[in-house]
Amino acid sequence: MTAVTVKVPMALRPLVGGRAETAVDGATVGELVRRLAEDHPELKRHLFSPEGKLRSFVTVYLNDQDIRYLAKEATPVADGDVLSIVPAIAGGSPEGSTPSTGPTPPRAPGAMIPSFSPSDLRRYSRHLLLPEVGVAGQRKLRDAKVLLVGAGGLGAPAALYLAAAGVGEIGLVDFDAVDLSNLQRQVLYTTADVGRPKLEAARQRLEALNPGVRVVAHGERLTSENAFDVLRPYDVVVDGTDNFPTRYLVNDACVLLGKPNVYGSVYRFEGQVSVFDASRGPCYRCLYPEPPPPDLVPSCAEAGVLGVLPGLVGLLQATETLKILLGTGTPLVGRLLLYDALELKFRELALRRNPHCVLCSSEATQTGLIDYPAFCGVAATGGESIGVPSIEAEELARALASPDPPLLVDVRERGEWDISHLPGALLIPRAELPERVDEITRAREVVLYCRVGDRSARSARWLLDLGFTHVRNLAGGLHAWASRVDPNFPVY
Ligand SMILES: [Zn+2]
Repeated sequence: MTAVTVKVPMALRPLVGGRAETAVDGATVGELVRRLAEDHPELKRHLFSPEGKLRSFVTVYLNDQDIRYLAKEATPVADGDVLSIVPAIAGGSPEGSTPSTGPTPPRAPGAMIPSFSPSDLRRYSRHLLLPEVGVAGQRKLRDAKVLLVGAGGLGAPAALYLAAAGVGEIGLVDFDAVDLSNLQRQVLYTTADVGRPKLEAARQRLEALNPGVRVVAHGERLTSENAFDVLRPYDVVVDGTDNFPTRYLVNDACVLLGKPNVYGSVYRFEGQVSVFDASRGPCYRCLYPEPPPPDLVPSCAEAGVLGVLPGLVGLLQATETLKILLGTGTPLVGRLLLYDALELKFRELALRRNPHCVLCSSEATQTGLIDYPAFCGVAATGGESIGVPSIEAEELARALASPDPPLLVDVRERGEWDISHLPGALLIPRAELPERVDEITRAREVVLYCRVGDRSARSARWLLDLGFTHVRNLAGGLHAWASRVDPNFPVY
């Protein structure tokens, strides 16, 4: 038997007792993964479909090579090998170091070029000193148009540096207002901006930083209907979204329009970065043909994220964007960069074009945009869409004061419970629910709650599927409780 180290990504660690890596015996990749899944039944559900097939939103690497391009599950392993499981988080080899297709066609020698003002020369002096940028490169940046999809954790730092670097036009897609909880990482905004539309605050900040930059605000959700029109004018698209439907939409629209897509995603302490450019490498669908089911991968709002992490990932995206615009260096095409902030480790995995990719391969069957919320299985938010009965905050308050109060189950994490919780509640974090389900009595009515009502709705669905009958979800979670029952209740 051969002992192989299996690296477990942060998103799946709760399912293997919190470990970052584990040693498993086996002769092939398939044996290893199956053995690991047998030891951890909850992990099995994530890794394998009910038919026992390895799921397509989980990729497996042996020593940094995708097993789909080795012998798949039959790939033999040797002592000292490292197996990495890389799930989608919500996110071809480079053809030489000088990409031939830049967004700006090379100018003929001696062509008339508008010159920079003395203050521009001063502003960009450190760029002009670089032979790889120089006056010609700075002009390319000034003529360039970059679209940032999402002006949040990733888009905020990227926008600041792209504006500082002199990218002529920066488009921003976002429809949120600045929330106090954004400021821990979205450094584009200040405390005084709380409550303002993000795009308004962002435009002001970016134009104050560099008046030579034109900020174009797209204050609506990106949809299959408007994506082509929004993306078409831009040279490069930076994917800073926080959800799978928009991620697949951005990928598909970029492939169909022939735009490079600079991808970044974060989860707690881990980040992923790549450049998807279907003209010379794989696309996001080559990496993850299908999204994970909506309840499998928590969002940052649910899982938390170290504030500086999206800063670093957003700046890697900005760096790749500038390289593409300048046509210099080796872009992160065909490579997936993984960053682990806790260990301070960067790892790079080879990404290949999937010869059967429905979008970018010669066998492509998808020629237009599709219904992405349906594709990702997120028809709507809240419990109603998954058939879970809900209870309003006021009604819960009355029920709790009655002689026969319901059993309250808090499905958040311990750290969240420590901030605030409802009196008399039982804490069962969502990941522990399968092993602690016996603690929930079937004799009483049960009300599940979490921060805003999404995790508890999915947990309630799970209990109902298990045969529980009197289960309801607190609509709007503790946020609703604080706004409608107890204004002094601490929320976060
Ligand atoms: Zn593809």
